[in-house]
Amino acid sequence: MKAAKQAAILVLVAVISSLIAYSITSQLTPVQTQTITITKSVFVTESTPTVEDDYREAAEELLRDVMKWVEETRGLKFKENVSFKVLTREWVIEHWGKGFLNLTEVKIEETILKALFLISPEFNLTKFKIGTSGYTVAASSGNTVYVVREYFDPYDEQRAGSILAHELTHILQGEYFDLQEPKTSDEKNALLALVEGDANLVGYLYFESHGGGARVRIRENALDPMDALWYFPYMYGEAFVKYVYAKKGWSGVNELYNNPPTSTTEVLHPEKYLEGWKPLKASFQEKIENGWILMLRDTLGEFFIRQMLRRHLSYQEANQSAEGWSGDVIELYEKNDTYLLRWKILWETERDVEEFATSFEKILQRVGAMRLDENEWKTGFETLTLSRSGTCVTITITYTANPSETASQAIITAVRF
Ligand SMILES: [Zn+2]
Repeated sequence: MKAAKQAAILVLVAVISSLIAYSITSQLTPVQTQTITITKSVFVTESTPTVEDDYREAAEELLRDVMKWVEETRGLKFKENVSFKVLTREWVIEHWGKGFLNLTEVKIEETILKALFLISPEFNLTKFKIGTSGYTVAASSGNTVYVVREYFDPYDEQRAGSILAHELTHILQGEYFDLQEPKTSDEKNALLALVEGDANLVGYLYFESHGGGARVRIRENALDPMDALWYFPYMYGEAFVKYVYAKKGWSGVNELYNNPPTSTTEVLHPEKYLEGWKPLKASFQEKIENGWILMLRDTLGEFFIRQMLRRHLSYQEANQSAEGWSGDVIELYEKNDTYLLRWKILWETERDVEEFATSFEKILQRVGAMRLDENEWKTGFETLTLSRSGTCVTITITYTANPSETASQAIITAVRF
């Protein structure tokens, strides 16, 4: 990572991760597969590959046309010149695929996902995260639009134009809106849903107004839960923004930036957002001491719970049991390679508690956990208690890393250097 250049941040959101409150880094990189665009934070080095002149000329000409279209459609004028860079896929994988990972954070995230049975003990989260960077089609940072040569065809005006419209919307967001750094994963996913939903809607309107037909829409139940977590802002952000746009137009969308959604629940149920619904703040009374070190405190949210349940249960059941979420807090502690995880989830009604607890106990049975007591379970590498009190559920897990995780850690270390 020598010569890494920290460019101006486009908007105050960072890498998509359903779990970890990543610190805000320097850069955003949208990744487009079909009509889905993903944003994650990366560093850009000074030396970018050069591309033949015809391609660049065609792309820059299209960019100028799309800029005019976006200004008229979105009702906002660019304050500064927009610059343009062409990258290659190889360069993107090398620099953006590996550059952005914070290995400690990935390790923490992996531990939580494994402890909650969302991924298997052999799953390598680092590889999973690197793999997604190869699909980057276009990106933006500050006032620069980046496109990837192999995936971006400037002669395909509908598709290339809609990608540019998406990126240019991000540039306008950076110029006009001031976003606060999200404090939890759930807050971050909600904010990303606004940012990407707005950009996707503008991209779609470009596509539609230039003769584009119906788009391929990827549905949540067709995706693996891990991919669904990654795609959340694209799957549900546009519907959220469109809901507000239909009721209040672009000025209503602009207002969203003054009071952005703070939970995936508000994005999934936009009517709740418009009613002014906000999640409750959950916290623990009891302190954890005796040498345990706090590694993470976070809020995971309704959409995370839905994917955790969906890993083992039907889409319908997962959807229903995750609904009624009204707040959560998760804490991860470490001591001598053993982890202590506690997660308090608040629900709207006692019925919601029952639904969730019943579904979670089904998962424990499916992963072959042994029931030790009314509320206590044991698997090969963790013990777990599930307790209910009023409208609150608390899950406490003691988790010991198994040998396959040590192997995973070795790969993580190799990637860094
Ligand atoms: Zn984007």
